Amino acid sequence: MSDSEEKYQQRMAKKKALVDERIAQAQEERGIVILLKGNGKGKSSSALGTMARSLGYGKKCAVIQFIKGRNETGEQKFFKDHPLVDWHVMGHGFTWETQDKSQDIAAAQKAWALAEKLLQDDRYDFLLFDEMSYMFKYEYLEVEPVVQALKSRPKMQNVMITGRTMAIPLQEVADTISTVQDDKHAFRQGVKAQEGIEF
Ligand code: ATP
Ligand code: MG
Repeated sequence: MSDSEEKYQQRMAKKKALVDERIAQAQEERGIVILLKGNGKGKSSSALGTMARSLGYGKKCAVIQFIKGRNETGEQKFFKDHPLVDWHVMGHGFTWETQDKSQDIAAAQKAWALAEKLLQDDRYDFLLFDEMSYMFKYEYLEVEPVVQALKSRPKMQNVMITGRTMAIPLQEVADTISTVQDDKHAFRQGVKAQEGIEF
């Protein structure tokens, strides 16, 4: 074996020992709260990818879309009839087009009432609250009851919440937080939003 090969092997063995040690230390088994935030593209699609991963193991999932965007999206078409997925869109829906605040608040509260129920139901393994963070930003919902419900949810239940900005109390209760950074987006180069990519 050459010198450099030997050095390489030593370095890799050291790395493996470190990784093995870390794996041995992470022994707790429980569900987690994952937040995906930031201005870049990829939050909702990543959360849905994680849901697909859970579905692969036969886990029961639910999605609540707190902001109703388009009438239909590719993900909704794909997942809504899946036997293990409950897909909910918030009421008639808060959209960027509605201008009726009291109607939006009522819809947000209805969606939260449903979310709260799911957070008490241990039949659900995976919950996605898509774009929920806007509800706190616009003060349609209070964050404290959400934090309490997250804290007292079933032990193995995993929850993902997406949205560009995330309320601080949610960040405190979360286990994993990833920020998707907007380095570049085709929209700013004048590329039209396309099915299968944007919706
Ligand atoms: P995706 O659903 O593609 O994962 P996202 O959930 O990270 O995106 P949102 O903030 O929910 O992003 O915005 C939803 C829509 O806006 C999507 O159609 C997405 O492609 C688009 N979008 C996301 N980020 C940007 C951006 N930085 N500039 C322009 N459009 C964006
Ligand atoms: Mg999104």
